[in-house]
Amino acid sequence: MKTLALDFEFSQSNLQDYVTCQRRFNLKYIKHLSWPAIESDPIHKIEDRMQLGSDFHRLVHQHLVGLPENLLTETVTASQFIELPSMWQDYLTFYQNTLAKLRQSPYTEITLTTILNNYRLVAKYDMIAFLDDKTLIIDWKTNVKRPLSYRLVDRLQSKVYPYMLHVAGSHLNNGNNITISNIMMMYWFTAMPDNPYVIDYNSDLHEQNEIYLSNLIEEISMNNDFPLTDDEKACRFCVYRSYCDRGDVAGVHDEMDDDVDVEDFSLDVEWEQISEIAY
Ligand code: SF4
Repeated sequence: MKTLALDFEFSQSNLQDYVTCQRRFNLKYIKHLSWPAIESDPIHKIEDRMQLGSDFHRLVHQHLVGLPENLLTETVTASQFIELPSMWQDYLTFYQNTLAKLRQSPYTEITLTTILNNYRLVAKYDMIAFLDDKTLIIDWKTNVKRPLSYRLVDRLQSKVYPYMLHVAGSHLNNGNNITISNIMMMYWFTAMPDNPYVIDYNSDLHEQNEIYLSNLIEEISMNNDFPLTDDEKACRFCVYRSYCDRGDVAGVHDEMDDDVDVEDFSLDVEWEQISEIAY
């Protein structure tokens, strides 16, 4: 019997939390338990990193919707973050080399939804662009370090985004389904702008993703246990660690593994909401 409310909405973010730790998913999305702990120490470093990421996403969004580059560059120059000007210049170089010749303006900050296994599945994209022979999904990543590729393969984002584009993106393509083999997903890293991670989508991957996501949603919807993760590394940067008796000291920001993604954090609000602030 399903134990999860039928109006529950899945996203890559809450699915990722479930895969990382079932207890975290339960506390965060079902019990809505706020817990007064910080995710990393010192707190200002993670706050600054989140703000820098938000500023970068806002700049790129504004540029892609047509705001003049020179005006945006002025705001970058006045930024409190010394890293932002070089991030911006790297983005502009990438834009000139890859996106400047787009046949139509890209879609930015766009949300697609579908129904899978009776539940709503939502994906919010940084950017979707139609190139001559490819449909390109880009996710701008502002991690301190570029994550290792094998860890990116397993991220829920890598499955949800291309899957959703095919099943729910036809309205972006004049009502025609977007061909699976034309879909390409790219993680572009401010930390390593010349070394993005690219997924060339194909039918086998699509089939695997559909089965995986459908089974995962089914499993969650029937779950009434939600055990703590066995991987205690995940607890170091989790707000619930004292609640779970997994230590009461936050992990040190500078010791974060490269696969700890600041975008997964939820200091006060969800990351999806952060990137919308002040747009
Ligand atoms: S502290 Fe650890 S076990 Fe508890 S919710 Fe967080 S990741 Fe899961």
